[in-house]
Amino acid sequence: MNRIRTLAALPAVTALALTAGASAPMHAQTSASPQVVAARRARVDSLLARMTLEEKVGQMTQLTVGAFTTPDTPHRDSIRLDEAKLREGIVNRHVGSILNTEQGALTVEGWHAAIRRIQEMATRQTRLGIPVLYGIDFVHGANYTRGGTLFPQNIALAATFDTALARRAAEITGDEAYASALPWNFAPVLDVGRQPLWPRFYETFGEDPWLASLMGAAQVRGMQRGGRVAATMKHYLGYSNPRSGHDRTPAYMTVREVRESYLPPFAAAVRAGARTVMVNSGEIDGEPVHASRYWLTDVLRGELGFDGVIVTDWSDIIYLHTRHHVAPTPKDAVRMAVQAGVDMSMTPNDYQFHDDLVALVREGTIPESRIDQSVRRILLLKAELGLFDRPFPDEAAARAVGTEASAAVSLQAAREAITLLKNDGGILPLRRNARILVTGPAAHTLSALNGGWTYTWQGADASHYPDGPRTLLEAMLKRARDVRYVPGSAFADTMDAAAAARAARDADVAVVAIGEEAYAETPGNIDDLTLPEPQLRLVEAIQATGTPVVLVLVEGRPRVISRIADRARGIVMAYWPGMQGGEALAQLLFGEADFSGKLPFTYPRSTNQLVPYDHKNTDALGQDAASAFHPQWELGTGLGYTTFAYAGLRTGAPSIRPGGTLPVTVTVRNSGGREGTETVLLFTRQRFATLTPAVRRLRGFQRVTLKPGESRAVTFTLSTDELTYVGRDGRPVLEPGIFDVMAGGLTASFTVAGAASAATPATNTTERVGG
Ligand code: BGC
Repeated sequence: MNRIRTLAALPAVTALALTAGASAPMHAQTSASPQVVAARRARVDSLLARMTLEEKVGQMTQLTVGAFTTPDTPHRDSIRLDEAKLREGIVNRHVGSILNTEQGALTVEGWHAAIRRIQEMATRQTRLGIPVLYGIDFVHGANYTRGGTLFPQNIALAATFDTALARRAAEITGDEAYASALPWNFAPVLDVGRQPLWPRFYETFGEDPWLASLMGAAQVRGMQRGGRVAATMKHYLGYSNPRSGHDRTPAYMTVREVRESYLPPFAAAVRAGARTVMVNSGEIDGEPVHASRYWLTDVLRGELGFDGVIVTDWSDIIYLHTRHHVAPTPKDAVRMAVQAGVDMSMTPNDYQFHDDLVALVREGTIPESRIDQSVRRILLLKAELGLFDRPFPDEAAARAVGTEASAAVSLQAAREAITLLKNDGGILPLRRNARILVTGPAAHTLSALNGGWTYTWQGADASHYPDGPRTLLEAMLKRARDVRYVPGSAFADTMDAAAAARAARDADVAVVAIGEEAYAETPGNIDDLTLPEPQLRLVEAIQATGTPVVLVLVEGRPRVISRIADRARGIVMAYWPGMQGGEALAQLLFGEADFSGKLPFTYPRSTNQLVPYDHKNTDALGQDAASAFHPQWELGTGLGYTTFAYAGLRTGAPSIRPGGTLPVTVTVRNSGGREGTETVLLFTRQRFATLTPAVRRLRGFQRVTLKPGESRAVTFTLSTDELTYVGRDGRPVLEPGIFDVMAGGLTASFTVAGAASAATPATNTTERVGG
């Protein structure tokens, strides 16, 4: 991408129709009375009746704030608005929406000053006084407000399998967005992360559509709580599976696959009341989504019942002409996008969209009634957010930003997310009196804990980070007497690995923090998932000394480490755990808290084996175990300092009828020596199906905390909606036959009524997992 960016708890197990469903009404989130809703509509209709065509199209136009700033060096804590440019945009061109930041994060006061000026111009100096709708990317907390709370990235939140916590994080983000006078958040990302090369993998909730659906819906509910901030489902649809692995490049998928693996989180978020959606910058099977009437209108509006605002992504209408080559002229690009169903164009630097759309209506190509549809949705959104009544910043809300209580939620999220993948011989927890070498490029940096979209777009500029929060090294130094630090390697460049190896000889254990420096979008493209050579060499040099090695993986996507994994005694997946990540890691490494995170994706062993957990039976074909499906770690992997034993998996009945429900119960016992939390994952499998079935599909999860020796019966309720798959015609099919449920290594079976043969008896042997 060619731009400079200077720039209430959801139950853990929820029955969810995954493929379709009517949207919650737009006012559901604000619980507005029918009278209030009617009054809003009347206000919007009367406004619309008085608007000129130019004013209407202005509402459909969104520019970046950089288009309105002075040419002098941007200032860090404020946005320097150029009066003449602002007047041209808001008064003369009737621009209805502005997005983004200029230099990076602003103070709350900086945001308030900018928004106040913009709203003064919009409400006092234009004919109709329509307030501007300002949009921002708060993707892992209030990442563009100084002092805002920064949470783990979504990939880490997914590892918590804790929807209540994900919702709480989103509530805080929504509150801090409101406090910053930013009522429209471009989050959550609902793309399903099934292509680990993709540089936005960390923004996703992992590879499972079910988990992403529940997490995404929880975040939409949390962010929109109170009705003051609108969430954005993005990026609809199929964005996350580019063949090349590079950002914004094409996906080559059948409609069936898109519906099976990528549509469900959007369906769930529509049902949760999401008010806006942003479109995928890429294309599916030769059709750019910005030009797709099928995906935007037939499916999103028609099938899912979405009645909110559809906004494009950055420059994506003109790209229909300049990149995708489906529109012979820029004007054709505008026509195609609007006819496909787009309501608002993130142009984001000029007025070409505005001019072309006015011309298309004047010449009769696009009826004005089509413009009215979009403008009505945009004005209604402004009304719902209260912008007509309260366009100016709420000074009192500023207190909500960056509280200690919010930091504690972020710490809890990081602690619940970080995942123990290997602990040979109980190398962890670390002893406080051990001689510890800390090394590696991720050991003493905050940017690699936070990742992209942190204070700046790329997130890697250390000069923007505050002083208070601890790096991993600093958090370890607080706890142990004999901690020695040697950098050892940069992320991509060699440093003095030999010095680190020398220090390792005098240490009892070496904690090596490796992974990725922060990145966002296209600059994060890679062609090889392998961890960069200098880091592999550092680990090998330390392993050669014989000192036990604990690897801490601080990364936005799974970098292949098979060369060093076998000889590591301990391996901890930190993901990008956010601002409290250093502290959370130290608590876990020293055993002050226990690990409970589980991998929300398949961790590949080699760069060309990128097969997800819910693959087909034949995806696992090979001559022997080593050439079959054998990732480094499977989805759901996650150890702790205690162990859990599963027993007695059973269904409440031998069969289920279409439309019915089936309870499934399993008993989990803490079989180890300390209290711990286990996430019980429930999978289903259809034994035989018309189209080849997946080997397993996640259909439920619940976190249970148990004392040593304590057991709990955990019950899930399966519905037949959850047993369907997407058939040839793109519709969900429920086929009669035998199904299996699996949890903790146990399997039980049942039939969907009408099956030819009866279910086989359950295999109820106890099996140990964890530990
Ligand atoms: C990204 C979006 C983001 C938008 C606005 C685009 O480049 O793809 O996720 O919301 O910019 O900043």
